[in-house]
Amino acid sequence: MTEFSPLTRAVRAGIETDPVHGAVIPPLHSSTNYTFAAFGERRRFDYARSGNPTRATLGEALNGLEGGAGATVLATGTAAITLAVVSLLEPGDLVLYAHDCYGGTWRLFEELQAKGLYRFEAVDLTDTDAAAARIAEARPSLVWIETPSNPLLRITDVAAITAAAHAAGALAVVDSTFLTPVLMRPFEHGADVVVHSVTKYLNGHSDVVQGAIIARTAELAERFDHWSNVLGITASAADSHQVIRGLRTLELRVERHQRNAADLVAAIADHPAIAALHWPGLPTHPGHELAKRQQDGFGAMLSIELAGGEPAARAFVEALELFSLAESLGGTESLVAHPATMTHAAMTPEAQAEAGITAGLFRVSVGIEPIADLVTDFTAGLDAALRADADGQG
Ligand SMILES: *Cc1c(COP(=O)(O)O)cnc(C)c1O
Repeated sequence: MTEFSPLTRAVRAGIETDPVHGAVIPPLHSSTNYTFAAFGERRRFDYARSGNPTRATLGEALNGLEGGAGATVLATGTAAITLAVVSLLEPGDLVLYAHDCYGGTWRLFEELQAKGLYRFEAVDLTDTDAAAARIAEARPSLVWIETPSNPLLRITDVAAITAAAHAAGALAVVDSTFLTPVLMRPFEHGADVVVHSVTKYLNGHSDVVQGAIIARTAELAERFDHWSNVLGITASAADSHQVIRGLRTLELRVERHQRNAADLVAAIADHPAIAALHWPGLPTHPGHELAKRQQDGFGAMLSIELAGGEPAARAFVEALELFSLAESLGGTESLVAHPATMTHAAMTPEAQAEAGITAGLFRVSVGIEPIADLVTDFTAGLDAALRADADGQG
């Protein structure tokens, strides 16, 4: 048998597996329960919370893409993060985590700490030497990496931070939502666990909320599977069926997303309304060389800082016709989000300042629309921001 690539297997997930009718596309198994084959003879599935064929097909595809030992598909990305923390930690254990991580991750960690369950400490993981020193000193149980970070697209050296974690006896988890396995596979850099918000690029159409956790070892995969059932946070069969469909075009979409991002950046980079442009594909980006080394592409997430602060931010958004002002990312449609008032609003002003989130900052999820229209629309927004800034100063 030929060994086909994981990307090929993702395109063909579950194809030609229906033994009853020979359906090309795998059927959606909506049944909540499965008969025992005979007295005391359990089949592969018995109850859909603990497992069902549709979710299993998706899990196999995701695990294949990451190159892990097993994937567990959860109701949300946040459920995947919860599962990692609850199943891996003992009471009082310490987690060192990326200081500019996803806002919901930060909130979850803060709340678990407030309950006295575990301890969490934010660290700038992009400063490799300082982070490695802190890991060696603090001896955490887990190191929580998110790269590129949200919303400043800072790049963490996964191999170096993972090595530091292992030397201190910790496991390294990577939230790889922004890149997907098309652009980076954290296990190749030594990570122990990969988590995804499937909601984003993996599903890719902004119509399903879902998460996944993929383990490097069979022991960890079994633990995640067990705890996902214990906590009752597994994904539905219907959502899984829809995500299998999204996943078939993952590589195609990611290629177009990031080509559009590169072309948009080239078109707007010198616009006078922009004080700073964060995209790892720019040679001036501090993580550019590292991203080139550990990723297979620079991705389609970027952020801009408008020179005129909040008045410019308002004018920018009001002038946009194509880019939608919305949270989330990774769908086919182009979006802008304003972290200070949207995704990272749960953070205290101090935490926002520490993460570099200002009133003029926008995160951009570049969609797959024809690039000429994206450039026209974005430029109109920037022109309006510039006028607002001039008015403010004049
Ligand atoms: C969206 C997101 C999450 C949370 O996922 P949900 O599916 O919304 O629960 C976690 N990490 C990152 C990087 C995200 O972008």
